[in-house]
Amino acid sequence: MTGIVYLVGAGPGDPGLMTRRSLELIADADAILYDRLIPADALDGAREDCDLRYVGKAPGDVAMSQEDIGAQLVELGRAGKRVVRLKGGDPFVFGRGGEEAEALRAAGVRFEVVPGITAGVAASAYAGIPVTHRDAASAVAFVTGHEDPAKAESALDAKGLAAFPGTLVFYMGVKNLPLIADALIAAGRDPAEPAAVVRRGTLPDQQTVAAPLADIAERVAEAGLKAPAITVIGPAVALRDTLAWLERRPLHGRRVAVTRARAQASGLAARLRELGAEVVETPAIRIEPRPVEGEIAAAVDVLAPGHARPADSETPAPSPGQGGYAVVCFTSTNGVRIFFAALAEKGLDARTLAGSIVAAIGPGTARELEQHGVRADVVPSRSIAEALVEALAETPVEGRRVLVARAGEGRDVVPEALRGRGAEVDVVALYDTVVEPLSEEQRALLANVDYVTFTSASSVRNLLDSLGEGEVSLGDARIVSIGPITTAAASELGLSVDVEADRHDVEGLVAALVAAAESAP
Ligand code: SAH
Repeated sequence: MTGIVYLVGAGPGDPGLMTRRSLELIADADAILYDRLIPADALDGAREDCDLRYVGKAPGDVAMSQEDIGAQLVELGRAGKRVVRLKGGDPFVFGRGGEEAEALRAAGVRFEVVPGITAGVAASAYAGIPVTHRDAASAVAFVTGHEDPAKAESALDAKGLAAFPGTLVFYMGVKNLPLIADALIAAGRDPAEPAAVVRRGTLPDQQTVAAPLADIAERVAEAGLKAPAITVIGPAVALRDTLAWLERRPLHGRRVAVTRARAQASGLAARLRELGAEVVETPAIRIEPRPVEGEIAAAVDVLAPGHARPADSETPAPSPGQGGYAVVCFTSTNGVRIFFAALAEKGLDARTLAGSIVAAIGPGTARELEQHGVRADVVPSRSIAEALVEALAETPVEGRRVLVARAGEGRDVVPEALRGRGAEVDVVALYDTVVEPLSEEQRALLANVDYVTFTSASSVRNLLDSLGEGEVSLGDARIVSIGPITTAAASELGLSVDVEADRHDVEGLVAALVAAAESAP
């Protein structure tokens, strides 16, 4: 097996600006080598057994040399791994991706490049600055500001840049900004030309300082703006006055906690982010396998009659061809892992599934099955229960036994549909999702939010569970509830609700929150 290294751009920071391809590759990777400036949750989709290696550096300190990184990529590639080298922005724009690709080519390791949205384009856009414009800029230059332009050996061509007919975008240039501005003006650039520095562009705390080129360095120093930031210089920067949009969103600058009951909360988080809120997601949920004895052992026993029973069992083993499951459905990668761990505990392996049609809820689950030596027979392309039901339409189940191996809490779409078609369905819970106590960091974040949202009674309970005994500190946060049942649960647990939605769904809750934010500047 030959390995492959993907040089992947993770975009400028907003997780929504990661490409679909980057997310697929992250979900699939054996190893990920990542930098500092990648979106906070970029690695959430990685496999649990993925080898995650931080190879970035904080400004000023050297964490790992470029040769080291190259060597690790080569070694992993040669070992047959699927490797993602994840970088902020675009890997080939001031990302040293070119050097890494050269090292891989020299070593004969296969690689592919997955572009990302580069900060110069993204941070400008989020600040309301089009880097090109029919009337204002017919060209754009990406320039490193790392170099001191005054140095004789500087690669920076101040004269050329001063004469450049369009927008100049400097990366890594905050520290050198006074030197850069001076050099450009000395070389003939108009001191009155509009300039802007955008810090942490596309992130919820994005900050922009704008001023004429002659004053920009001083303004930035006054505002205390530090890296990472880009500096944009040119007539197009003036368009910001009309085109700034980020700061105009209804929840811009508001911190909102989304308390998760289930995966559905992520829809709420996305909606709030869309409206400009900085979202804090709590609490963390952990996977806890159920004990093998009990339901799981019973299901294994159906699959491998006689094997899992004690030798002196008085119940006769079912005769061959009886028993067994015609179909076994897996609904998550965690489920697959825990099922095979249970088999192993019983001294069994993949052959236990030899007589069954194996269905996986999606490609990720199918891949996990493959890791255990089983190729799934049925795999829908979308990982949802409805798609699995559809994919099983041609599989004969009437009068046959089916095993649905899944999480403790799950929807009953698959079992119900199969029962409807005359199958005898056993649903076996392999694991539970458990609420984790909040970390100090999460507590601190939570203590600083403006709003805490609750979408169900269980989300109130989960949050309080994760906070643990003792004082419930939600700071000065206002509490927003989706409806009366949730409000009642909150009051019962000692939380007083400030805002209750009129419509009891996510949109209703968001509308109530926006209205509250508008009346409380
Ligand atoms: N490959 C990256 C650039 C890496 S160099 C890309 O294509 O975007 C690091 C520099 O990128 C920082 O010093 C800063 O100038 C810029 N940068 C990265 N992320 C940024 C962000 N979110 N906002 C503003 N500038 C950013």
